[in-house]
Amino acid sequence: MLKIAKLGNPILRKMAAPIDHREIKSFELQRLIDDMFEAMYDEPGIGLAAPQVSRSIQLVVMGCKDEGGFPETVLINPSIVYYGPEQVENWEGCLSVDGLRGKVTRPSVVRVKGLDRRGKPLDFEASGLYAVCIQHELDHLIGKVFLDRMKDMSTLTQLHEFQQYWQKEPTSVI
Ligand code: ZN
Repeated sequence: MLKIAKLGNPILRKMAAPIDHREIKSFELQRLIDDMFEAMYDEPGIGLAAPQVSRSIQLVVMGCKDEGGFPETVLINPSIVYYGPEQVENWEGCLSVDGLRGKVTRPSVVRVKGLDRRGKPLDFEASGLYAVCIQHELDHLIGKVFLDRMKDMSTLTQLHEFQQYWQKEPTSVI
């Protein structure tokens, strides 16, 4: 099982390098994608970026089978090309930040471009939890974590207290 890099590991603060198109179909990259899905579901989480498994490359995997979830998605060399005008606040957590949750405000809709695991171009719009997850994961590719996106640190909450006081609100552990 891949090991998750935790906050304080310098790799989480680096800019991830783009992946060469010729490497996308390689056994190594395809296996890394499968291993990342396995590690993500094992935690469990709904998204995982390659820097979180100590690979500084532009690759993220995502998926959430719950109600209100979204399909399994692999994004290679992704970029957000449009942000919707509306902002929404959601609780977020992170597999690299143990035991903390915090409220983050982000655009409610994004349009993202990138490549899938076969190297084919992707271009789609996402909203709801999917949009939150995409923005959180793409932040990992530029060395940012959700704590950097919190405008008000007063909502920062330890897990036990989160479950006690705030659990009823939607959370995304990404
Ligand atoms: Zn994260």
